[in-house]
Amino acid sequence: SPVIVWLRRDLRLSDQAAIAEAAGKGPVIPVYVLDDETPRHRAMGGASRWWLHHSLASLDAALREKGSRLILRRGKCEDVLPALAEETGAREVHALHHYEPWWRNAEKAVGKRVALHLHHGNYLVPPGAVTTGAGAPYKIYTPFWRALSERMPPPEVQPCPDAIPAPESWVRSESLADWNLLPVEPDWAGGLRDAWEPGEDGAHARLQAFAGKASRYREQRDLPSRDATSFLSPHLHFGEISPAQVWHAMAGAGGSVETFLGEVGWRDYAQNVILQFPDYGGKSAREPFDSFPWRTGENAEADLRAWQQGRTGYPIVDAGMRQLWHTGWMHNRVRMIAASFLVKHLLIDWRRGEQWFWDTLVDADYASNAVNWQWTAGSGVDSNMFVRIMAPLSQSEKFDAAAYIRQWVPELADLPDAEIHDPAPMARPADYPSRLIDHRAARERALAAWEQAKD
Ligand code: FAD
Repeated sequence: SPVIVWLRRDLRLSDQAAIAEAAGKGPVIPVYVLDDETPRHRAMGGASRWWLHHSLASLDAALREKGSRLILRRGKCEDVLPALAEETGAREVHALHHYEPWWRNAEKAVGKRVALHLHHGNYLVPPGAVTTGAGAPYKIYTPFWRALSERMPPPEVQPCPDAIPAPESWVRSESLADWNLLPVEPDWAGGLRDAWEPGEDGAHARLQAFAGKASRYREQRDLPSRDATSFLSPHLHFGEISPAQVWHAMAGAGGSVETFLGEVGWRDYAQNVILQFPDYGGKSAREPFDSFPWRTGENAEADLRAWQQGRTGYPIVDAGMRQLWHTGWMHNRVRMIAASFLVKHLLIDWRRGEQWFWDTLVDADYASNAVNWQWTAGSGVDSNMFVRIMAPLSQSEKFDAAAYIRQWVPELADLPDAEIHDPAPMARPADYPSRLIDHRAARERALAAWEQAKD
């Protein structure tokens, strides 16, 4: 009897244990279920939907080359999958593990109604498996990474099966176009189309391009003006490439690559935090943040909008926020600066920023997003740094962001390097906003808020 492969954010054919396993058992029915109900407010945001559309189209094309195809269905997974099993006579569903709390619940619910076989492969080590000597999960990255490194290399990469056996006849599939995952009016996705090639081929092209410059990674990864990082984050998020594939392609190439693999390790670390604290995306881990005097009301909302639109008057922040809007991605150093600015300079609840990133990032990832926002805010299990307030202007200078600012904030393009990070009021072009708040005043306000929250 046929075997169903339930695909989620593991949209690849190679090193995909669920497909490999199913292909060895009988005719395979690969299915993607668009389920907005189970994740509820955590349903995918706009940029992720854009990516998903193209990634599903690419996966279907790759499956067709193997004599298979992708079946699309909509609804709650725990209803759709058992119904599909009944319709096709399938007795087993194979899938990769996912660790977002809603997916773990869905796996339980599906497993009650059909035989669900879950496989590993979206993390270097299965989340939860790396523990301290006493068997406790790690809360801090550095010891976690040390312990994880001892378990490397990850298992050998499995190639895609030569053929994926097809059932005698195919069941009905919904049409991808009917899912309306792409923006209609206004079509804001032009910048995304220019910047990305979703799908497994696009992922491997990125990996290859990165291999050629990986030796400069350690030295340049913090410089937003250089394209020194891998741009693999959306591909890893959607599982178009596995971290084991990345590891095996890169490992052993020297110190710079070790630094890079350590970053890939952050992705594993973040998922380990979520396994321990499933609500992490909506709940601060430290107590003072339960009663933090975040700004609310009309002025705060106007400031939030200015931040979202890249009109804060701080060039590095504005460049980052505009890069995000245009391409669905932002350089990591600038994500830290922009996030810190929202939380500390504007005193706006980190969850508002997390939500904006969730909607606009093509790599929006529940674990990585929440862990990095809480780290920046100082509210996380791994950080207590609210009082360390990043100075956006000196960060911009230190990390040599002039060319980056010129690219994303064209109003400032004519300013010399010495002025572009912090244009004097007289030097500001008329169409560039003045600062929402002065740095020193913001610092004092933030420290006072922290004192109040602590008491
Ligand atoms: P590279 O530097 O080439 O790193 C390789 C891979 O390692 C990345 O593709 C990513 O999978 C992983 N990685 C690198 N840094 C981190 C990190 N700090 N945390 C977790 N994984 C990491 N990353 C996401 O994938 N999704 C998010 O939703 C996300 N939200 C973030 C929010 C904030 C406020 C901050 C400060 C960072 C966030 N990051 C997120 C982490 C990081 O910025 C991106 O992973 C990175 O910029 C992606 O670019 P790259 O693929 O070129 O990274």
